Amino acid sequence: MSAVKGRLAPTPSGNMHIGNAFCYFLSWLSARSQGGRIVLRFEDADRLRMRPESVAQTYSDLEWLGIDWDEGPESGEDGGEYFQSCRTEIYDRAFEELRSRGLVYPCFCSRQDVRLAAAPHAEDRAAVYPGTCRGLSQAEIAERSKKRAPAWRLEVPDETLCFTDRLCGAQRFSLARELGDFPIRRADGVYCYQFTTALDDALMGVSEIVRSRDLLASAPWQILVQRLFGREPGVYIHIPMLLDEEGKRMAKRDFSLSLREIRRRYTAEETLGALAFLAGLIEEPAPCRIGELVPLFTWERLPREDIVLPPALFARCEKP
Ligand code: GLU
Repeated sequence: MSAVKGRLAPTPSGNMHIGNAFCYFLSWLSARSQGGRIVLRFEDADRLRMRPESVAQTYSDLEWLGIDWDEGPESGEDGGEYFQSCRTEIYDRAFEELRSRGLVYPCFCSRQDVRLAAAPHAEDRAAVYPGTCRGLSQAEIAERSKKRAPAWRLEVPDETLCFTDRLCGAQRFSLARELGDFPIRRADGVYCYQFTTALDDALMGVSEIVRSRDLLASAPWQILVQRLFGREPGVYIHIPMLLDEEGKRMAKRDFSLSLREIRRRYTAEETLGALAFLAGLIEEPAPCRIGELVPLFTWERLPREDIVLPPALFARCEKP
């Protein structure tokens, strides 16, 4: 039996765009081409940012593309375990363990709390935390707690963490100097992306993490979290970003390249042909079904640089 397990980890905060679809497409193909399994997990820990209708839309979009999964909300006895918003007790236990080991500390620095919990896609990456609240005395903590509830940060060791990304190659990050102590729980009790995702990947036995390259610098934090719980992380595969025609990162708020819009203008086979072409799997963007791509799949032909979407590929989509 194959030990490979890939994952789809959508945040249901808006419409899936073609960049998200490209990522799920490659995750799925990589796992399936090795006879592996797929888990679908909704990363909705920060409930306030979520749009409930996005969950149904995600199912519909994935199904339309033929991207299926073996484990997810509909497969288990308790669908809730595949929604991060239903996993708070698991995160609470892990958090308490780190706290009892003295690895986390309360942080009273004022920051935009909302941003602390989100996946730090390149442009909104926070600066290295200078350690202001590290080493506060019990008295100081008690005093400051009267005014506001603290966030909690994980204290990173002064070490260099090395790992090899399947596409980006050997990586070295100085945890203290380049990354810094990072928030794992916000002041309002919501657990942060680095913590929830790392724990879930470990607890769900994910062995391949395919996601866009702007999350590369999150990997060392997530590897650290997993190691603190005695888990060896899976293989990280950070794919090039798909950029819009102007070379800009796609956002869920841009309607033009959302799957919803694409589905109005193109068939699933045409869309898959375009994705396969972008991944270097076929010479021309000819319609195809996802199953036909499994035997063709290889990482070797995927461009190494970010990919600007050729205007001709989705030309029939309405521009904003
Ligand atoms: N849920 C994140 C997102 O949709 C992806 C995080 C990850 O793949 O680690 O941006």
